[in-house]
Amino acid sequence: MPLYEYMCRGCGARFEVLQRIGAGAEQTVCPKCGGHEVAKQLSTFASAMAGSGAMPCGSSSSSSCGSGGFS
Ligand SMILES: [Zn+2]
Repeated sequence: MPLYEYMCRGCGARFEVLQRIGAGAEQTVCPKCGGHEVAKQLSTFASAMAGSGAMPCGSSSSSSCGSGGFS
């Protein structure tokens, strides 16, 4: 099951929930205030890929990829 990140519109809390694929936000309740007004965020994986600047294998200066042709 994938891990989804939500943000509560009521109190601003961010929390993560393990849900089946396709599960809706209407089933999700804020653990802090109990509100149902929650917004699904990008997954932790996707936001880490997009926001941190730490690129995976293939980036210019990564030394641990092992595919650079050095021997
Ligand atoms: Zn809340």
